[in-house]
Amino acid sequence: MSEQTVTTRITEICQLLNHYNHQYYVLDEPSVPDIEYDRLMRELMALETAHPELKTLDSPSQKVGGVALKSFSQVTHQLPMLSLDNVFSADEWQAFVKRLLDRLNRGGIKSRLDFAICAEPKLDGLAVSLRYENGVFIQAATRGDGTVGENITENVRTIKSIPLRLQGTSFPDILEVRGEVFMPKASFDALNKQAIKKGEKGFANPRNAAAGSLRQLDSKITAKRNLGFYAYGIGFVGALENLVERDDGRKSIDESWLANSHYQRLCQIKALGLPMCPEVKLLENATQVEAFYQDILQQRAALSYEIDGTVFKVDDIALQQQLGFVARAPRWATAYKFPAQEELTILESVDFQVGRTGAITPVARLKPISVGGVTVSNATLHNQDEIDRLGIQINDTVIIRRAGDVIPQIVSVVLERRPENAQVISFPTLCPVCQSAVLKAEGEAVLRCTGGLYCQAQRKEAIKHFASRKALDVDGLGDKLVEQLVDEGLIKTPADLFKLTTLDVSTMQRMGQKSADNLIKGLKIAKNTTLAKFVYALGIREVGETTAANLAQYFLNFSAIKSATQAQLQQVADVGVIVAKNIINFFAQAHNVEVVEELENIISWPDIEPKSDDELPLKDQTFVLTGTLSKMGRNEAKAALQALGAKVSGSISAKTHYLVAGEKSGSKLVKAQTLGVSVLTEDEMIALLNS
Ligand code: NAD
Repeated sequence: MSEQTVTTRITEICQLLNHYNHQYYVLDEPSVPDIEYDRLMRELMALETAHPELKTLDSPSQKVGGVALKSFSQVTHQLPMLSLDNVFSADEWQAFVKRLLDRLNRGGIKSRLDFAICAEPKLDGLAVSLRYENGVFIQAATRGDGTVGENITENVRTIKSIPLRLQGTSFPDILEVRGEVFMPKASFDALNKQAIKKGEKGFANPRNAAAGSLRQLDSKITAKRNLGFYAYGIGFVGALENLVERDDGRKSIDESWLANSHYQRLCQIKALGLPMCPEVKLLENATQVEAFYQDILQQRAALSYEIDGTVFKVDDIALQQQLGFVARAPRWATAYKFPAQEELTILESVDFQVGRTGAITPVARLKPISVGGVTVSNATLHNQDEIDRLGIQINDTVIIRRAGDVIPQIVSVVLERRPENAQVISFPTLCPVCQSAVLKAEGEAVLRCTGGLYCQAQRKEAIKHFASRKALDVDGLGDKLVEQLVDEGLIKTPADLFKLTTLDVSTMQRMGQKSADNLIKGLKIAKNTTLAKFVYALGIREVGETTAANLAQYFLNFSAIKSATQAQLQQVADVGVIVAKNIINFFAQAHNVEVVEELENIISWPDIEPKSDDELPLKDQTFVLTGTLSKMGRNEAKAALQALGAKVSGSISAKTHYLVAGEKSGSKLVKAQTLGVSVLTEDEMIALLNS
């Protein structure tokens, strides 16, 4: 690379890193995954090492990333709050060890790190410094740029695990505790679910959620966010001037209180009531580092808080002092990061898959990318709501996340990289498998194919349901056999079952002549059923056994059910708007009708006697239900009234016979009174039903 090209590249990277820093530290809204940031940072550091003359003082490689927001008052740290160096592999860890040993002049003598190491999980939250004076919490600050942070005292006060007064009496007059504020995974999931429900975007990860929650101008919001805290170090420590003995008799204590081991210091602050991460361990030497890393990596998914690696610190404070600091981090510690869980890739196309129950799921086809050692090329987009929430388009650059064994998911879109040829994702109007209409049921996010009896994708489930015990109860036809018969192409729809011959069946696996005969016999018997079972067997969405029985009893014959209008259907006990629409949509599909007509020629059932007037004492009586029915619930009340022959309507008119008014009845009650319609309380209705 020519000097000119290197300069251009360095400028380019610096601009990008500064931009990403702003999004990450100031807005708490990163647009690219950490791995992308880390790649650029490493490239910059490599270029700066090869061309030291091009390294500038304000290079992102020389700075602690953040900046203090002006909306908070500022706190100048008495001791700087630094970042950490990081390594990503065993080789890089070894190189870190070598640098340590060289620096300590031990390189020639020993090749391994033979002093204690404090091993800690790398918590994924944000660094804060807590200041206690005389044992009382008086101030909390963010890291900011390492020198100046934000005063977030009031917000930190709301974190339940942070003591406002230290335990015991043995602590320095001034004690600064440093640690990580984080959002436990469960709180993060709950917060994001809530945000999505409200149509808001949610946070990209628990780190941003913790940072966003802590940097609220209103501490009442922070208080609701259930943040956690673990201490991992000590900042400034000292005695208060003129404090020789306090009112409570406690003597002034200065920094001589501090142990000379980092681990012991953590134990000291734990004894004062500050939370310490339970996974922290003192290792005898560096040979145990790899095992600790692997152990924490194993535990990662099960931990209640998010981590992105481990941190190893030279335990001996005297050695720490000997090693000192570089511009942005101590030399005596490093983060040993886990493989990235997030990567960038391109959404190349979207396919629509039809599930066994007809649900149509958009599946993202991604440019294959390795995430945490596994190649990812597909991810579900769930449904239209999810696509809208992500605002995703074809050809977009997306962040894909694969955490542990959890299936890969698309986290967000890098809008800044949207190309000109980005295309809006449009859903099919016909099922991609059987070309039946697709519909979105009210109150549901998923789109479904309506060709339930015909659609190849739903075939197996439809036939299994049709033959199941509560439906046509075909003896000798198990789920496995249905699958084989479909796979072999012998049956496509439930009607095809009745065309099977003993010979066809006996060629299936584990089917002898006898079991084949039994099945054919079973099918013959199943041809005689009841209308209710037949309606249930069709597998119309949300038409269960009871609804099917109610439909049969109300309409008495199948033709009437097929041609019923929505209003008529809604007169049936148990049938509301959604079920009525499902029934209408089912029979509106030519494909389904074809199969149903075929079945009608094969299956028969006895006529149903209409219920006598004695059994329908509320025949021709119209009821309207309003308000909250606390004993029965509206649906149950509706079904009970309809079972006795009553009509239940949604609107009140002069023709209404009764208004059943529950608690908090509103305009309908007023209207009933004006129209002179009889009004029943819930108890009066129950009494009527019982009589
Ligand atoms: P860092 O997060 O890599 O490490 C330092 C921080 O680790 C400390 O400040 C502290 O808050 C935390 N930490 C957690 N556990 C700790 C422990 N046991 N002991 C000590 N410290 C512990 O460094 P950083 O400077 O905060 O951030 C840099 C990193 O942030 C980058 O490597 C990158 O991954 C990410 N980043 C991403 C973007 C983006 O756009 N995606 C932008 C900026 C930074």
